[in-house]
Amino acid sequence: MKNAPINLLNFDREGLESLFVEMGEQRFRASQAMKWIYGEQQLDINSFTNFSKTLRETLTEQCVAAVPELLSEQVSVDGTIKWLLKVDDVNAVETVYIPEKNRGTLCVSSQVGCTLNCTFCATGAQGFNRHLSTAEIIAQVWVAAKQLGHSLSDRKITNVVMMGMGEPLANYSRVLPALNIMRDDFGFGFANRRVTVSTAGLVPYINQLNEDADVSLAISLHAPFDELRNQLVPLNKKYDIKTLLAACKNFVKDKRKARITIEYTLIDGMNDQPEHAHALCKLLKQLPSKINLIPFNPFPGNQFKQSKPAAIEQFKQICMKHGLITTVRKTRGDDIAAACGQLAGDFMDRTRRSAELKKLQLEVVA
Ligand code: SAH
Repeated sequence: MKNAPINLLNFDREGLESLFVEMGEQRFRASQAMKWIYGEQQLDINSFTNFSKTLRETLTEQCVAAVPELLSEQVSVDGTIKWLLKVDDVNAVETVYIPEKNRGTLCVSSQVGCTLNCTFCATGAQGFNRHLSTAEIIAQVWVAAKQLGHSLSDRKITNVVMMGMGEPLANYSRVLPALNIMRDDFGFGFANRRVTVSTAGLVPYINQLNEDADVSLAISLHAPFDELRNQLVPLNKKYDIKTLLAACKNFVKDKRKARITIEYTLIDGMNDQPEHAHALCKLLKQLPSKINLIPFNPFPGNQFKQSKPAAIEQFKQICMKHGLITTVRKTRGDDIAAACGQLAGDFMDRTRRSAELKKLQLEVVA
């Protein structure tokens, strides 16, 4: 049987260089191929006109440049766009574009479902199916760029955040090359600070990311006390708040001006009281950080409620009085279920989470 073709989108520049060298080709073919794929949005290898005919023939025998099929595009009344991409016969993932006055943020998924089971998140509630490949991750940027008419000279997307479905650091080996392509001049050319990895707190991989990629980091904290955080983010039982914040401190240590974004979803009566705000600020005193408050977005089957506007405002005021930069994330795209925590994608097999959890050795009750 013939092997499945190699998808060129699965490799960052270094990976592509090795691939070309293995094929007896020159290294610089890697950046040329990337220019075609990401710069020119050309997926037809036969149209790579600076490649010789023989090279194109050899390449097309073994390789493809392929992105998932676009199943749907939904546009919210506020301009937010959600795309559903078919990644295989039973799975689809969501990517969301959030246009604002001076920026356009693309929210990218890293897994089909999620293993972490945070109690207030729709993706978690749905279980875990599988990791996305590097190609499936970077293709989300590719498809969004194509749909938006984004180019190097007309940058519709200014920021990429790994805040879609899944826990990016639980899929580290595939996410890292995608982060590299996003920031590569022959890829999408985003500045380091404009690519953000958001994590619920997989500490060993925060440390690894610090070694491997100069990107921005966001932490889904959601509670200043371990007992409460254990309930909201079960991963906290493995890496508690103190351990997590120590890793964050280390992450920004030698980076000028870098700040960690602390994401804090406000849930009515759970974590939105003044005592929580004060405790949060105390925790963040020694950490260059900014707080992003996210009003909880409800979803079917979940009993939590969004904090009252007055509680949100009070929480924000307390944080600001402590001298912390604090913003409230506007709820965007909720009419098309594109808001934070509402991304559920579409997939069939929900049975694999426990096996995957065992692999991660998390003491999480699924
Ligand atoms: N697993 C990563 C990436 C997901 S990012 C992480 O945990 O950071 C999605 C962000 O939205 C996270 O901060 C998450 O905690 C938050 N979120 C999840 N469900 C939500 C909901 N229902 N309402 C508001 N925010 C939510």
